[in-house]
Amino acid sequence: MPPLSTLLKTVLSTNAKHLELLQSVGVKTVEDFIYYFPRSYTDASGITPISDAKEGEPQTFSGILSNFFTKRLPNNRQFTKALLTDDSTSIELVWFNQKFITHMYKSGMHVFVTGKPKLNMRKLSLAGPTIEHKREEQLHTGRIVPIYHETEGLNSKWIREKMRPVLTEFLKYIEDYIPEDILKKEKLMPLKEAIELIHFPIRVEDLDEAKKRLSFDELFLLQLKAIHKKWLWQHDATSKIKRNEIDKKHLATLLEKLPFKLTGAQQKTLTEIIDDLEKDIPMARLVQGDVGSGKTVIAGLAALSMIKNKHQVAIMAPTEILAKQHYKTLYKFFQQYGINIQQVLGSTPAKQKEEIIIQLKTGTCDLVVGTHALIQESIGFKKLGLAIIDEQHRFGVKQRDTLKSHGTPHLLSLSATPIPRTLAMTIYGDQDLSIIDELPPGRKPIETHIVPEKKRKDAYNWIRQQVEQGRQVFVVCPLIDESDELEVRSVMQTYEELSKHIFPELSVQYLHGKLKQEEKDSIMAEFSANNTNVLVSTSVIEVGIDVPNATIMIIEGAERFGLSQLHQFRGRVGRGEHQSFCFLFTNKESQTSTKRLAAMVQHQSGFALAEIDLTMRGPGELYGVRQSGIPDLKMASLTDAHTISKARQYATLLIEKDPYLKTFPKLKAQLERTEQVYVND
Ligand code: ADP
Ligand code: MG
Repeated sequence: MPPLSTLLKTVLSTNAKHLELLQSVGVKTVEDFIYYFPRSYTDASGITPISDAKEGEPQTFSGILSNFFTKRLPNNRQFTKALLTDDSTSIELVWFNQKFITHMYKSGMHVFVTGKPKLNMRKLSLAGPTIEHKREEQLHTGRIVPIYHETEGLNSKWIREKMRPVLTEFLKYIEDYIPEDILKKEKLMPLKEAIELIHFPIRVEDLDEAKKRLSFDELFLLQLKAIHKKWLWQHDATSKIKRNEIDKKHLATLLEKLPFKLTGAQQKTLTEIIDDLEKDIPMARLVQGDVGSGKTVIAGLAALSMIKNKHQVAIMAPTEILAKQHYKTLYKFFQQYGINIQQVLGSTPAKQKEEIIIQLKTGTCDLVVGTHALIQESIGFKKLGLAIIDEQHRFGVKQRDTLKSHGTPHLLSLSATPIPRTLAMTIYGDQDLSIIDELPPGRKPIETHIVPEKKRKDAYNWIRQQVEQGRQVFVVCPLIDESDELEVRSVMQTYEELSKHIFPELSVQYLHGKLKQEEKDSIMAEFSANNTNVLVSTSVIEVGIDVPNATIMIIEGAERFGLSQLHQFRGRVGRGEHQSFCFLFTNKESQTSTKRLAAMVQHQSGFALAEIDLTMRGPGELYGVRQSGIPDLKMASLTDAHTISKARQYATLLIEKDPYLKTFPKLKAQLERTEQVYVND
């Protein structure tokens, strides 16, 4: 067994309780422990002469102990006093109920002491200071002291005491797996040194250097894995993708026929896609853009270009409702080009489905729209050239991989959940990224208002007037502890309240995840047909639902949602000719939630809001990302754009040169060992 995999219980002399506590924070082996990094540090490295002691500031002193005095108090309590003397003068030390002090420390001992001096009867004294014998290397005082995540019964002092000997014994087994030329070019310190210094830094600068190295490692391994995955997709032996010239003249005529001019961002994205389509390796590209930024149009143009070259195209949406909606839009768009477009849903009658399958197998059907049922292995294509996946984060990687059984076509993923580029590069690093961060001109911003409890009535009255003018309303109920039961209950409560007391004269409906698919479909159909005025729903209302006449979005308990999610909800309105509104109902007035909601009022761009969300709440809270998994990083930051793009460059070069890392066995081994770090599988 490699020494680093040694179980801690065979190495540490400690009790079962401590071992259990370590396990509870994921530490089982020597390696886990070594990689259990401090969360912060206190700089107690400067030794202050006692005569310079300042009241109220944490300082470290070094001197000789004397004049011990212990007094027993009622209830088995006690206090202990001693004097600490250095070359300059003396200071009194006081501890309450710390019996170990008199066991471990005696007069005449040389010690280090860290604490905040307080004025007591006009003299400075130290109450409950950290104390440590002078030794070869101080661990708790007189240095930059590492502070670890502490749990009940597992404190930093204990961890330091155990960490020191473990590092001394096992650090030598740590392998430096990053190729040497990268270390050199990036001026990164050796791994052993970085680990040693992250636990026990000598100078403050050591910390920066150690963090730089360890962060690079984490991000580099992540990128390496992602780029390797992309490489595997693009070099799949079963792929039928050949070099394929896209007819630019044809594309230009298509563009001319559009009733509008592409935005700059759309044009750039289209060029990136067409370049990919002309290569002899399958594309792996993700297009991110807000709702309405014009992704579907671009996907449609790409599809037409492939169909012109006698390829088939499949478009997949995560739900039947969305698939149907896509089919409707695309049908209108493609019909004029004499293209045979079909849809396959779970609900498609068997006989009809069979017919479509025959068309797909013989190649008479050019374009098929559906849910992922579409790429089940029972369905065959004559020549699938392009697969387009809408809302890709709602598909699993496994579903995507079934495309390999259809000859690994070009893959174009679309996402209306914009996240910052750096984060996207990490989470969706196995794809190239195109960003549409510009809305077509002339879009009216959605007027957004924060509505505190006392204004609720006014808001309802105003909304009633809008409904009287024919508009429709979405009401989103808050996410409750991620429990479906409670969420359904809150939908029902809101529904009762609105239908009985607030809007008794209007037609109110509700929608939640526990309803049967047919029920959901019919409720949505009623709403689309404007037979329902107000639709109350859980936070899971289908992404991308398009009801142009719905112009009001009410979000209950808005403070509970992340900005990106609020932005998603808001995107359900603002799709028609009428001015749209978003009301953020909130009864919590904490500073951070006010600041977040104010950002909603101020910004319309999903990218801007995601950026703000990332800095305010951290990556774990970004909507849509949770499902796809955020890597559990110990040291690196997912916002460290500089290191991320460096790591990506090196990973790309390396995989191009040696995709299976045959000449880098240590790196390969490390990648396999850290597999569990990557959640996005
Ligand atoms: P997305 O798929 O990103 O939500 P769509 O492609 O469905 O966006 O476009 C939303 C609407 O905007 C559609 O009605 C589309 O025809 C229109 N549209 C797309 N691009 C432009 C543009 N450059 N200028 C004007 N309108 C556009
Ligand atoms: Mg769309």
